[in-house]
Formats: sequence, structure tokens, C-alpha cells
Amino acid sequence: MNEIRSNLTDRLEQIEGQLLAMAEEVAVRIGEVTSALVEGDVHAADELIRADDDMDLASLQVEENCIDTIVRQAPVAGDLRFVLSSLHLNSEIERSGDLTTNIAKAIGRLQGARLDERVRDLIVQMSVQAQLLFRRAAESLAARDDELAASIDELDDVLDDLHVRYIQTVMQDARRGTLEPQQSLQLALVGRFYERIGDHAENIGERVRYIVTGWLPEAQAAERARERHKADPSADEPLRNRGIAVIESLGENRRIDAIRRDFVANVSHELKTPIAAMSLLAETLAGEDNPADRDRLAAMLHKESKRAEAIIDDLLELSRLDEPEGRFAEVDIDQVVARSIDASQSFAEANRIELATVGVPSSITISGDRRQLVRAITNLLDNAVRYSDADSRVTLTVDDLDDAVEISVRDTGIGIPRPDLERVFERFYRVDRARSRETGGTGLGLAIVRHVVENHGGRVLVDSKSGSGSMFSMRIPKEHKES
Ligand code: ADP
Repeated sequence: MNEIRSNLTDRLEQIEGQLLAMAEEVAVRIGEVTSALVEGDVHAADELIRADDDMDLASLQVEENCIDTIVRQAPVAGDLRFVLSSLHLNSEIERSGDLTTNIAKAIGRLQGARLDERVRDLIVQMSVQAQLLFRRAAESLAARDDELAASIDELDDVLDDLHVRYIQTVMQDARRGTLEPQQSLQLALVGRFYERIGDHAENIGERVRYIVTGWLPEAQAAERARERHKADPSADEPLRNRGIAVIESLGENRRIDAIRRDFVANVSHELKTPIAAMSLLAETLAGEDNPADRDRLAAMLHKESKRAEAIIDDLLELSRLDEPEGRFAEVDIDQVVARSIDASQSFAEANRIELATVGVPSSITISGDRRQLVRAITNLLDNAVRYSDADSRVTLTVDDLDDAVEISVRDTGIGIPRPDLERVFERFYRVDRARSRETGGTGLGLAIVRHVVENHGGRVLVDSKSGSGSMFSMRIPKEHKES
């Protein structure tokens, strides 16, 4: 009995130690990423992105430790509350770590923007405040201090105020034209990241209060709503955790707004380049008498218009994918593969690349949308060709996984560096802008692939190493269950 007891105590101490170390790590990283930001030090930012893996690992260890403790030690009452809360604390800390990584990623995208004194000053102040909040949260956990935990709410108001001032300043700079629209957008996002770190610290405070006194505001609010409903059934049916749902949906709306704004700015930017080039070329063409030069200019004009057309075509495809079409029918995978190979063949030949298939005919049928699937596979094949050297081979493999089919496209091309792997599915994200442009990429191909696979209830996986090729796999259930 004693043995277990002391084991459990050890375990709880260990979990707490891990959490405190993670929280301190986040506080330190907030400081580091801020220095990198104000100094525009992209190299330091890249290092921080890489170090994010350690954070993920630490978080995984806490999670395993908590689950193992629940299973093996069967804690009860206050101890159980502590272990369960630790799982939450862990994810709050990890998400804050992710936010600092997001700031590090934004530094690369800011491309050396010159931040004015006021913006820099506010960034530093937000950083100091975010670190303070995090250290306060850790302190309140270490001391099990309810009041210290509650004080985080007030401190967070300071960060919120700073954030408002910061956004106003960034907007003023954007209006004055001292910042490019893209850069102001990135800076606005950076401000949001600091603000959200504060929100996570606040949540940590709430969890600590729950550990200390069992005080959890959302649970209490839900309880009160249930009581009200019991007393007066005509009152609105209380939704479970409605408060949280509302807050989450507000957060989600803000997130979607930010994505939308980012997207619109990106689209405008992407289309502006070919259109500006077309206008310039047309002007030059009008004043050109030499027939050879006229032909050359006309060919360039044609290439630029094709580029704009490809971007618009992909954008239309993406918006079509958003609409629930309900055009699912039985689809023959062999036919889909044959059509995709057909569609990519001439592009492959032009680049002296052989397209090979493995596992076909497969005689697999799934429920899906044939046009969408052909489009997705063609995109993967085109990319494999686009990012490979001449005289190499691209292999498409079909695997039968009983209740799913896996279609993989493997190349031996340039590969994708690890830090970029998770981002290549984002719209307009490219590892090498110049190569993508040169080879007719739009930056939307993989976004379409992911969308198609998600529409089919499946997953897309990528395995790649810089310099030694990539493999993209679409794993799609044979029977699609409508969500
Ligand atoms: P793009 O039109 O630029 O190819 P995608 O959305 O299809 O846009 O891909 C995004 C980025 O992912 C590409 O710009 C490229 O940097 C990288 N990428 C995609 N597929 C491959 C591949 N097979 N090998 C290497 N890099 C790839």
C-alpha cells in the first residue's frame, strides 16, 4: 500500500516537474523568438522551428506518463484531478510552444521588413508580458496557489491592451505605405500569436485553480444553466459547455477570417505578377517592328497568360471542392489511374521522365468522385515530374488495404526539406518559388490534393527527404461515410 502510495507521489512529482520544465522552455523560447523577430534573424528563427520537435517529444512523454499513471496507479479524488488536469496543462503548454514556432515561421515570411520603433517596442512589450504570464502560470502550479493563478486573468488584460495598440500601429504603418500589405498581414498574425499565448497561460491558471479548489468556471456555468432549465423548462435548452462552444466558434471565426484575408492577399499577389508582365509585354509588342522579336514577345505573352489561367483554373477547382456536390458513385480505380497517367504523359515526356505503375490492374472500386480523384492524382504526378531531374522515373503504386485503397506517387527528385513538409499543403506555399514558377506550378496543386482526399474521408501522407525524392500517398476508404 505504502509502496504504491509513494510510487504515485513520485509519479505526480515527475509529471509536475516535466510540466514546469516545459513551461519554462516556452517562456525562454518566447524571449528567443522575439529577439530573432526584432533583429530579423531568419537563421535563429529556423533553429527555433527545428527545436520544436523537442517540445513535441516532451509533451508526448507527459501524455504517456499521465495515461500510464491513470492505468497503473488508479489515482482517485485530488490525485486523479491532478493527473487529468495535467493532460490539459500539457496541451496548453504545447500549443503555446506551437505559437512561438508560428512566430518563428512568420520571421521567414517577413523577408527583412523594416519594423519601425513603435512596432518593435510593442512586440518586445507583448513578449515580456507573455513570458511573465507563462512564468506566473508555472509558479502558481508549483505553489498550488489559487490566488496567483487567478491573478493571471488580470495580467492577461495588459497583453490584450498591448495587442490592440499593436494592431492599430501596424495598420497605421500599412496605410502610410511603410509596410507591404503582405508584411502587415504577417505582423498582424504575429500579434495574434502573442495574444493567444496569453490565452493559454490564462487556461493554465484555470486548471491550476481546478486542481487546488475544484473551481472550473465552464463546468460551474454549465451546472447553473442546467439548474435554470430545470426550474424553467421553457428556457433555452442548455447545451453542454455552450460557453466554451461559443468562445471556440468565435475563435474559429477569427481564425477563418485571418485565413481568408491571408488567402485574398495571396491570390491578388499571385495574379498581379503575370498580369503586370502581360501588360508590359503587350506594350512592348505594340511598339516592336522586328518580326522575330514580335514572335518572341508573343510567346512570352502566351506563357504569362497560361500562368494566370492555370492559377484561376486551380482556384475554381478549389472553390468547386468546397461545394458538397454529392456526386459520389462507384469509381473504378484502374480507370482513374489510366486517365491520370494519360493526363500527365505529355508533360512527363517533355521532361524526359518515365511514368511507371505498380499494382495495376487492381480491380478495386471505391465510392467517390472520379473527376476529383483524377485531378488529385494528376497533380501528384505533375509535381513528381516537375521536381525531378530528366531521365528519371516516377512510380505510381496502387495498394489494396482491405477497407481502403492507397495510391502513392514516388519520385527520386529534389525532395522536400523537413521544416517545409507540413506546409506544402498550404495554398501558395512553395519551397522553391522560382522552380515552381519556371515549371508552371501554381502553388495550389497539393491544396487541391488534400481537399479531394478529405472530401473522400481519407488522408494524404508525405514522406520525403531533401535531395533523395518524395512519396505522396492518398489513403482513401473504399466506402465513403457521409459526415
Ligand atoms: P506547385 O504548383 O508550386 O508545385 P503544389 O501545391 O503542388 O504547388 O506544391 C507545393 C510545393 O511543394 C511545391 O512548390 C514544391 O516546393 C513542393 N513539392 C510538391 N511536390 C513535390 C515533389 N514531388 N518533390 C519535391 N517538392 C515537391
